[in-house]
Amino acid sequence: MRIGFIGLGNMGGGMAANLAKAGHEVHAFDLSAAALARAGEAGCRIAASAAAAMEGAEAIVTMLPGGKPVEQVYKDALFAEADTLLIDCSTIDVATARRVAEKAAAKGLAAVDAPVSGGIAAANAGTLTFMVGGSDAVFARAAPILSAMGKAVIHAGGNGAGQAAKIANNMLLGATMIATCEAFLLAQKLGLDAQTFYDISSKASGQSWSMTSYCPLPGVGPESPADHGYEGGFATALMLKDLRLAMAAAEDANAAVPMGEMAAALYEQFAEMGEGKRDFSAIIRMLDSVPD
Ligand code: NAD
Repeated sequence: MRIGFIGLGNMGGGMAANLAKAGHEVHAFDLSAAALARAGEAGCRIAASAAAAMEGAEAIVTMLPGGKPVEQVYKDALFAEADTLLIDCSTIDVATARRVAEKAAAKGLAAVDAPVSGGIAAANAGTLTFMVGGSDAVFARAAPILSAMGKAVIHAGGNGAGQAAKIANNMLLGATMIATCEAFLLAQKLGLDAQTFYDISSKASGQSWSMTSYCPLPGVGPESPADHGYEGGFATALMLKDLRLAMAAAEDANAAVPMGEMAAALYEQFAEMGEGKRDFSAIIRMLDSVPD
C-alpha cells in the first residue's frame, strides 16, 4: 500500500521503518533533514514536502509533537483524494482530535486517532500498543496498517476516544508512580528494607505497574530505568505533557481530578529543576530530598 508518513522523530522514525519493512511503499517527510536521511536509510522514499508525501497515498500516518503541528499538516491532508485514510498517532488533546476528524469527514476522508503506549524501543521493535478512536468501518481499515507497527491495536470508541484513553491512562500512571515513590520512602524511613517492602507490597493491595514493572528504586524488582541512573525510559517532559492534556480535558469535561492535579504540579516542579529529560520515575529523588 502507498502510505504517506509525516513526523519521523524518535517515535515516527522507527514506525515508518517498520511500515517499509512490512512491504508498504512509504513516502516520508519531516522538517528535519537528519530525520529524513534516517528514514531514507530505513527503506522509506524521501518526499520534498508534507503535501508531496501525501500525494496519491491510500493512507496518511502522522506522528507529530502536538495538536498545532497536526492541524498544520492536516491542512494539506484535507486535500487528499476522497476516501483516503488519515491515521494520527501523535498524542494530542481530545478536542483537536475530534475537530480534525470532523473536518476530514466533511471532505469525504476517513480518520482515526491512534495514540500509542510504549516508548522509542517499542516504536523501533514494532511492539507499540495503539488505542484507536473512530468508527467500526474506519477502524477495520486502519488496524492492519497499525499491526505492522505494534503488538496490540485496541478500538477505544468514536473519534477522540483513543486520545481520551491515552491521557486517562497516563494520568493514572503519573499518580501511581508518585504514590509508589512515596510508599518506598516512607517504608524506608520507618526502618523497612526496600526489597522487603517490595516483596510484601507487590503481593498485597498496594501493587501496581509502577511498582512491579517499573520500580523507581535501583536494584529492586525487574530491571527498570532506575537501574540505569534514570536515563532512557519515559521522559519527565513527556509525562508532564500528557498530564497537562489530561488537566485540560478534565476541565472541559467537568471531571474532578485532584490526584491528577497534584501529579501535574509535582512533575512541573521536577521538570523546572532541569530534569525534563530524565525518566519520570526519577521523581523519587525530588521526593527524597525533603530536608529533615
Ligand atoms: P519528536 O520530537 O522526536 O518527533 C517529532 C517530529 O515531528 C520531529 O522530527 C519534527 O521535526 C517533526 N515535525 C514537527 N512539526 C512538523 C511538521 N509541521 N511537518 C513535518 N514534520 C514535523 O517526538 P516523538 O518522541 O517522536 O513523539 C511524537 C509523538 O508521540 C508525540 O505526540 C509524543 O507525545 C508521542 N509519544 C512519544 C513517546 C516517547 O516515548 N517518545 C511515547 C508515546 C507517545
